[in-house]
Amino acid sequence: MKRVIIIATGGTIAMKKNDLGESVPAVSGRELLQSVPDLANIAACEVVEFSNVASCNMDPQTLVKLSAVVQQCLADPGIAGIVITHGTDTLEETAFFLELTIEDKRPIILTAAQRDASEADSDGPRNIKNAVRVATDPDAMDRGVMVLLNEEIHCARYVTKAHTSSVASFNSGPFGLLGYCDVDRINWYHPHKAGRFFALPEKVPKVIPLLVFTGMESSILRHLISQGTEGFVLEAFGRGNMPPELENGIEWACQKGIPIVITSRSPDGRVLPIYAYPGGGARLKKLGCIFSEGLSTAKSRLLLMLALSVTRDFAEIQAIFSQEVAL
Ligand code: ASP
Repeated sequence: MKRVIIIATGGTIAMKKNDLGESVPAVSGRELLQSVPDLANIAACEVVEFSNVASCNMDPQTLVKLSAVVQQCLADPGIAGIVITHGTDTLEETAFFLELTIEDKRPIILTAAQRDASEADSDGPRNIKNAVRVATDPDAMDRGVMVLLNEEIHCARYVTKAHTSSVASFNSGPFGLLGYCDVDRINWYHPHKAGRFFALPEKVPKVIPLLVFTGMESSILRHLISQGTEGFVLEAFGRGNMPPELENGIEWACQKGIPIVITSRSPDGRVLPIYAYPGGGARLKKLGCIFSEGLSTAKSRLLLMLALSVTRDFAEIQAIFSQEVAL
């Protein structure tokens, strides 16, 4: 029987209602597995109790630790795959960070639940069972880090939590599903293309993501740089345009060697330097801004952190983004 390691980190999947009817962490990884029927017929599961926290706690330093734990688990060649239970809120970020830092062909699957373990129809047990099925599937090799909920298998690079509460919350936009976990077999739709891998940084560079708004002033950037910010991800309008008031601060930051990555508040499509009016993307490009192409703000923050751990050169950082998104 194949061996699978389940790494429990917390999230709604491991929560129960308190006396006030509010969800709080309550269930260990081992207890979680006991709620999954027939698991023992699918794989021999071993549990690592990494944490039992809501996913708002998965800060960059914790992601580094989690990635190191996954790599330690995979050092055992007898392990067929890894399943990580996690909160849905920041799951896509953890998945993408692991995608960028773990070079291994064996399946790594993150799963979660929208309904906590007190609910009679919690989606947790079924999601865990399906994640273990994927971890043992012979065709799951070389598909990168995956996210599985609601029978749907997503690629870490494209997936996002698109609905706050639905069990069908996760969505991969134009890329679509990587696969589907049906009752009799797992159907695979896309091959996976691995991108560049990064070594785990000892100290994670401080990158701040910000939502750009009309009337936003440059003083915000200056203040954050004075507090030690090493890079920004600015979620701009449409194709990558910003209010004209920001040009001044952007120019100043770029001259100081602080990279600014532009993403868009529009979930689909690429940012490109097209417009040359004040605040337009073509002018921002000339000031030194880096275009994320189509990567989300949350994921661009992680990629910029890892890029900054290997280079401070704007052209090289742009190449890292362009290569990641071209996959
Ligand atoms: N609402 C979250 C969840 O679905 C809580 C978290 O992200 O930990 O798990």
